[in-house]
Amino acid sequence: MTDQAILLAPPLNPPQRVLLGPGPSDVPPRVLAALAAPTIGHLDPVYLKIMDETRAMLRAVFRTKNELTMAVSGTGSAGMEAAIVNLVEPGDEMIVCVNGVFGTRMRDVAQRAGATVHSIEAEWGRTIDPQQVADALKAHPKTKLLGIVHAETSTGAHQPLEEISDLVHDFGALLVVDAVTSLGGVELKVDDWKIDACYSGTQKCLSCPPGLAPLTFSPAAVEAMDRRKTKVQSWYLDASMLRQYWGAERVYHHTAPINMTYALHESLRVVLEEGLEARIARHTHNHKALRAGLEALGLKYVPEHSLTTLNAIHSPAGVDEAKVRKRLLEDYGIEIGAGLGPFKGKAMRIGLMGSSSTKRNVTLVLAALETVLAGEGVAVGRGEAIAAAERMYASQR
Ligand SMILES: *Cc1c(COP(=O)(O)O)cnc(C)c1O
Repeated sequence: MTDQAILLAPPLNPPQRVLLGPGPSDVPPRVLAALAAPTIGHLDPVYLKIMDETRAMLRAVFRTKNELTMAVSGTGSAGMEAAIVNLVEPGDEMIVCVNGVFGTRMRDVAQRAGATVHSIEAEWGRTIDPQQVADALKAHPKTKLLGIVHAETSTGAHQPLEEISDLVHDFGALLVVDAVTSLGGVELKVDDWKIDACYSGTQKCLSCPPGLAPLTFSPAAVEAMDRRKTKVQSWYLDASMLRQYWGAERVYHHTAPINMTYALHESLRVVLEEGLEARIARHTHNHKALRAGLEALGLKYVPEHSLTTLNAIHSPAGVDEAKVRKRLLEDYGIEIGAGLGPFKGKAMRIGLMGSSSTKRNVTLVLAALETVLAGEGVAVGRGEAIAAAERMYASQR
């Protein structure tokens, strides 16, 4: 064999999966096709127009008029990091709400950026109570910003934001919101809810491959950035420079992920063609049907207040959830997620995000779960899950 024959990997052949985990979600063929359009330069006038259109559509999906709205290179975590490093200077005080993996990650990012972080904690699966926010703001009068996760993908908890936003703004601080698993799937109103920095990812409810992080900053957040005395700790994520590329100046900062921008552009077109209200309603209908089916299988939800985009359920007693997930993947090509943190080995997470949120997928995953759980010795009424889901669909017509 020649050296080349040894080094040459076989051609790619990824399987077709049904992506019902915590992200990525199923990507529509037209979004995948957009990735294959010709790569052009990041300063090509045609590309600059695509950026402007992408930005205008992002504003529509975020429901904001914020001038500083863009797609940051990198996944949702890059959006988190960009939101925080641009607003935090060393020694600034930040309150971070922690009730799952992503609040924990936000706290870590803020500490690394040099913030003095005060945490508000809630049990995983529960939401943050506005009273906790009021108390924390009183206890820490120098707080500059408060960070909170709207859709805590690790537990499925859906965090109400409006009351907390009022508290934060009455106090005079900025509000940073993680909307990675809500943007494009769950109601989110950046301007009405007075969110100062809001970030997301492409691979959850926008149903685009991972690789970009939609991010928007309010005028108050931009003012806070303009008042900085120190440079942003991250060169790559420094919004003062990114702004000059996304803005009229078009100053080169780093080479934009051109083809990913095409994919995001197409996925935003998919979202806006469907309409945000209709899309949110679709997520609600499919979630309610799935929930009825899961409950008919005797499964119980982890969070009190569940997202429609992510369904976290306790594993039935005595069932090895890893085996259940393995069988779903191997026998049916369905990916669901494992439990995290305190729920590791104890919960399963079924995502119904973006293009993955369909009646077909609800029916498929319920039928497959019923079969797999029955194989694991769980007493399930055969056919009852799908019947319950069907009744829920009928009642929502
Ligand atoms: C997925 C997720 C992130 C991180 O996004 P990546 O794309 O994995 O970097 C952050 N926050 C929440 C709530 C998420 O669900």
